[in-house]
Amino acid sequence: MTIELIQGDITVLHVDAIVNAANSSLMGGGGVDGAIHRAGGKAILEECMQIRNRQGKCRTGEAVITTAGNMPSKNVIHTVGPIWNGHTKQDQKLENCYINSIQLALKHGLRTIAFPNISTGVYRFPKKRAAQIAINTVKHFEDREDLDQVIFVCFDQENFEIYQGILSSYGDQTTF
Ligand code: ADP
Repeated sequence: MTIELIQGDITVLHVDAIVNAANSSLMGGGGVDGAIHRAGGKAILEECMQIRNRQGKCRTGEAVITTAGNMPSKNVIHTVGPIWNGHTKQDQKLENCYINSIQLALKHGLRTIAFPNISTGVYRFPKKRAAQIAINTVKHFEDREDLDQVIFVCFDQENFEIYQGILSSYGDQTTF
């Protein structure tokens, strides 16, 4: 599996799954969530509603999967990041977002996954802390043969530079 870093809009990527930083209602919101629902169209919300009817809300750290609607990716994996409140307990919940999203992708035979910087927008998780958790967690999957590529998609320059710094310290296995 290779880890890549890009700066830009996650909704335009041609990958098996893009991950959405959703909220527990699964009914859409601002930030990347809004961008995904806008670009994907109403098919995504319809599937989210079916999931809601089946299982209720999506809890923090958990993940569900839907179509990607009109976007070029095949699926959207919606995960709910923790709202930062200063407690280190939130670290595990953010880690769970990455683990559960990757495991759900693997369960569906999806081999290329793109992540936004979960919880670093309105959920206010410190960006460096979130990036370290994201990278460390994804690196645990590096030897999986059923996974080809994980792409970290940074929308803002600050996150991009943070990821660049951490990933380059890992050396040549990481390409970006
Ligand atoms: P959260 O509620 O989990 O904090 P946000 O959507 O507010 O979610 O922010 C998560 C991250 O997604 C932020 O770093 C934000 O800059 C980024 N983001 C916003 N729009 C996009 C997009 N179209 N593609 C990729 N990332 C995006």
